[in-house]
Formats: sequence, structure tokens, C-alpha cells
Amino acid sequence: MPLTVQDIAETFPSLSLLTGEDSRARALSFGSQAPNEAIGIARPKTTEELAALIKHCNVHDQPIVTGGGMTNMVAATVAQPNELIVSTELMNQIEEISPEDRTVTVQAGVPLQTVHDAAADHGLAMEADLGARGTATIGGMISTNAGGNRVVRYGMMREQVLGLEVVLADGTVMTSLNRVLKNNAGYDLKHMFIGSEGTLGIVTRAVLRLREEPPHITTLFLAVPSYDAVCKLLRHFDSGSGGTLSTFEVMWEDFYKLMTTPPAESAPALDQGYPFYILIELSGKDSERTEGLALELIETATEQGLIVDGLIAKNEAERQKIWNIRDDIPQLLQLWPMKAFDISVPLSHMERYIEKMQADLDKELPDNRTVIFGHLGDSNLHVIVGAGTDDKAALHRIEEIVYGPLPGVHGTVSAEHGIGTEKKEFLKLSRTPTEIAMMKQLKGMLDPNNILNRGRVLSA
Ligand SMILES: Cc1cc2nc3c(=O)[nH]c(=O)nc-3n(C[C@H](O)[C@H](O)[C@H](O)COP(=O)(O)OP(=O)(O)OC[C@H]3O[C@@H](n4cnc5c(N)ncnc54)[C@H](O)[C@@H]3O)c2cc1C
Repeated sequence: MPLTVQDIAETFPSLSLLTGEDSRARALSFGSQAPNEAIGIARPKTTEELAALIKHCNVHDQPIVTGGGMTNMVAATVAQPNELIVSTELMNQIEEISPEDRTVTVQAGVPLQTVHDAAADHGLAMEADLGARGTATIGGMISTNAGGNRVVRYGMMREQVLGLEVVLADGTVMTSLNRVLKNNAGYDLKHMFIGSEGTLGIVTRAVLRLREEPPHITTLFLAVPSYDAVCKLLRHFDSGSGGTLSTFEVMWEDFYKLMTTPPAESAPALDQGYPFYILIELSGKDSERTEGLALELIETATEQGLIVDGLIAKNEAERQKIWNIRDDIPQLLQLWPMKAFDISVPLSHMERYIEKMQADLDKELPDNRTVIFGHLGDSNLHVIVGAGTDDKAALHRIEEIVYGPLPGVHGTVSAEHGIGTEKKEFLKLSRTPTEIAMMKQLKGMLDPNNILNRGRVLSA
């Protein structure tokens, strides 16, 4: 029998519990307008408190959904009326930073920006980064295996995690707070939980890898004549920058125009009208060397006709101006009602895939307004389709047009945002029946009563 908040409050009198309007007023996931219908929000402060609560929920068949910063884009944390949200917001301490080991041990609810700041105090960096850095939590980022802006050099969240502590569905605490780079002692169980979107366990603590903070970042913004030139520039900068290439973000012409035309806050950094714009960062030891390298690479690329215009940010304010063009989410919302996609397509297929997708959209929804940008260094595209209608069937048709061709081009329906509830129907386009059957077996083994994030990733 599922529980009521009264049951929970009586069993755990010291547990912080939001109910009624305090619970309903909370946002549930980025961009979601669904009402918060959870029975309440439990906010444990320790692993032990959380484990006791989950054990109790399991015995009573009470479904729970774990909430971090609630910035996910796949409606993963939109609660059903019978669900309890278990939020990690009070588990928000950095427990230890070891400059010698170059590790940080954090509780799951610590926001990403807090980790960045704490590491920087020691001349170190935790190299996962994304636009929602002030709100997204380490637990949420581990559970989604978040990507972001520096994957081309440092990999996704999985590459930053050395150890984990996880509470399983029956309340068992698996503590595996490894802090060394190499540990091949048997199965490395943490990988089961990274990217499993809270369906296999709740992350409560983590040991993250720190690296020496690159003292200087050179930011380039380039206008580029063709897709072929974009691909050539990726190799040109990666091979010529001595391992310092840390960001390679691409904006298609229509995206750049939208983001630099009023009411957008940003003015164009380079003229509008070029086919592609690339934001490149080189992170290096000293400014003279990195900037010198950047200038050399720009010069040789221009001689080859790969660049038609460009600039190097002279200071942090100029760097921020360029990033603001890329990150102006309110301006993107001008396209509402819209569908936002986070897909991967190998670079060799990307141009033809986009041409076909756009042609199909134009044929079936002549009013669509589609803009594209992405972490191109990672083959990751964000496609935003302004639908011109909020008709459900039309929005679903857009999903079919975008996702349908992906298996044929070795693409995937989720590059970094996960599956949540929104992409469940399309999981089968990116994973084989055998893979999905194994996912279900794993879920059945670790959470036989299906209380953790029920109906997310896999159908209930
Ligand atoms: C402006 C903006 C920019 C973004 N840019 C990027 C980007 O570049 N790259 C990228 O990958 N994502 C990006 N995102 C999406 C989002 O920030 C990431 O998915 C992030 O990892 C979510 O973290 P969160 O703490 O908000 O998790 P939530 O949204 O709270 O939860 C995400 C999922 O993880 C589960 N979960 C949360 N905490 C835990 C835990 N402790 N244990 C187990 N499961 C848990 C939830 O149940 C849910 O399934 C962006 C979002 C916004 C709003």
C-alpha cells in the first residue's frame, strides 16, 4: 500500500518534508509546465536518513522520484500523483578536497558551480561544465552522465567520477568511494549507476577527479563557409593545438541569426549571414603561447579558405559575450511551441541527415522554424524545431521525422540529456532488443518492486 505524507512524517519525525503548497510550488523539470502532483518532497540530510526512508518506501511499495537540481530536459522528474519526490537539496556539503590526490568528495546535492569554485581555490578544476551550472547537482549530473562544453577534451561526467556511494532500492548502502585513477579489482560497479537516470539507485556521495586548472583560456569565434570546412577545422585545431582544444561548439546560420536579432540581448559578434559559426577554446599554460598558437592556426586555416571572418576574445567580458550568444535560453523560447532535440550523428553523416530532416519538416509542417547548434566536437546536435502549432499529433510527427532516420546513420536519440519519460518510445531506435532486455533484467534485479523512478527510461 503506498504511503501518505502523514505516514512518512510519523515514521520519520526529524525528516524535512515539504507538503501541500510548499511542495506544489516547486518546479519539476526544465521547460515542463506539468503541475507538481507529488504527495510531497522529502529532503533527507544524510545517507543514513535517506537509506531508512527508501527502505520504508520499498516495504510499502511507495514509488519515489529522485530530484537534484531539476534541470533535466526530458521530464524525468515530473512526478506522478502517487509519487514521493526525494530531493538531495540538503545533502549539499563538499566533504573533502585533496590537492595531493587531486580529488574532491562531495554530497550528491552540491551544485556544479560550487564544485568549480572550491576546486579553483586550490588551483584545480573539475572539468565537467554546462549552462545550468548554478543549479544542476553532482548527483543529477552523474545520474544523467551529463556532457556539456568540454567533452571534446575531458570526456563526459563518467570520466570525472572515481568513486560513488549509492543507496539501493531496498535501502542497502553501497559505498565505493574509490579515489585512485586505476582500480581494476573486480567489476567497477559505479558504471551501472552513472547514466542510469536514478532508476537503479540513488547517488548520495561521489569522489570526483580534479585536474590542474589551465591558467589560460583563449576563446576564438569564427565564421565558416561550409560544413566541409567545419569538419576540417575540427581536425586542424585538434591536431595543431598540442592537446589544448577544450571546446568546439558550432552554430548554424539560422540559430546565430535568432540569437543576435532583437529582442535577443546579444548583438552579433561577427556579421550575420555566414553558413556556420564556431566557438573554439584552447586551454593552455600561458596566454602568449595559447594565443600565439591560435593565431597561427587561424592564419593557416584562412589560407586554406576554411575561415571567412573571426575574432579572438581579448578579455573575460568578451569571452562571456560570445558564450551568451550560445546560451541565451530565453531567446530560444521565442520559438515556442517547440520541440527540442539532443541527438548524436557521426560527422560523416551529419550534413546529409540535416538536409533530409529539414526537407521532411518543410514538406509536412511548412510553418516550422528550425535552428541548430551543438557540441560538434562530440558529434552532438541540439535541434530546436519551432513547430508553429501545439497540436499534439503535429509535435509527435516532428519527433518521428527527427528520430526516424537516426538508426540508418548510426545516430542516437539521446547524446547527453538521457531518456526520462519523453524519449522512452524512441529508445528502441538506439538500443537493440537484447540491450533493452538486459536493461530490464538489471532493473528487475536491483529494484524488483520498481519503486525508483518508475516509468523513466524503461516502461513500467
Ligand atoms: C540551461 C541548461 C543547459 C544545459 N546544458 C546541458 C549540457 O550542456 N549538457 C548536458 O548533459 N545537460 C545539459 N542540461 C541538462 C541538465 O542540466 C543535466 O541533465 C543535469 O545533469 C541535470 O542535473 P540536475 O541536478 O538538475 O538533475 P535533475 O534534473 O534533478 O535529475 C536528472 C535525472 O537524474 C535523477 N537524479 C537526480 N539526482 C539523483 C541522485 N542523486 N541519484 C540518482 N538519480 C538522481 C533524476 O531522478 C532524473 O532522472 C542543461 C540544462 C539547462 C537548463
